[in-house]
Amino acid sequence: MSTSPAADNRSGTPLVSIRRVSKQFANGTIAVRDVDLDLGAGEFVSLLGPSGCGKSTLLRMIAGLGSPSTGTIDWPGSGQEGQGKAERDLGFVFQDPTLMPWANALSNVMLPLVLKHVPRREAEGRAAEMLALVGLKGFETSYPRELSGGMKMRVSIARALVMRPKILLMDEPFAALDEITRHRLNDDLLNLWWRERFTAVFVTHSVFESVYLSQRIVVMAARPGRVMADLDVSAPYPRDELFRTSPEYAHLCRLASGKLKEAIGA
Ligand code: ADP
Repeated sequence: MSTSPAADNRSGTPLVSIRRVSKQFANGTIAVRDVDLDLGAGEFVSLLGPSGCGKSTLLRMIAGLGSPSTGTIDWPGSGQEGQGKAERDLGFVFQDPTLMPWANALSNVMLPLVLKHVPRREAEGRAAEMLALVGLKGFETSYPRELSGGMKMRVSIARALVMRPKILLMDEPFAALDEITRHRLNDDLLNLWWRERFTAVFVTHSVFESVYLSQRIVVMAARPGRVMADLDVSAPYPRDELFRTSPEYAHLCRLASGKLKEAIGA
């Protein structure tokens, strides 16, 4: 039985192939060193590690927002040659929802479509559909100031997914939310991933969140940022409250926590 959209793709051509990537900033900080990582089409991967281990730097380089000092990031599974062209196939969600305060939810989600000159009526339809998918049907004309933190993050996710990207890169998107909202968004994100079949790369420093969401957890250590472990989370999907309270979940959290402790001490 297939336990995930990615189950059949993981042994095939990776969507993204990261080879011996290092990044040194102008001030001398080595943010990441010698990272080798393949991201399979349709996989849900978390980058887990303490602050400063280079998670964001790596994510931003995958997005093309900054280039490696050495090493390569290729997109062999994208069907497009070269990093620049693959960029249009990715969505990015930041910790802050970064919405335009003067525009309503629909207009915020429409932005990437408008920038690509998609005709207005089609853009409105696609944005409204995406808002409904993230649970915001009926809030199309609401402004960011009228929405809760969780709802603003939903708008941000809808905006990132409205172009139907192959890969969704998320940089601690739920870190600022309360626990109940965070759990709900975790579930809704998994449902979206299951339905839309994008590759998900999720940066977090929460062991619990990484285990709940991912098929794979890449554990990183700091100074310099590097990959310490690559854990398989073999629990099947769909995952829900039963999984969150299961002995299997507790066991997996202990395992990931142990690796994180090793990474912090390394
Ligand atoms: P994380 O996301 O794991 O918290 P970051 O990727 O943000 O880690 O940062 C990794 C390291 O690189 C940290 O030591 C950070 O201070 C440093 N760093 C990040 N961005 C810059 C920058 N633009 N210039 C100099 N140093 C940076």
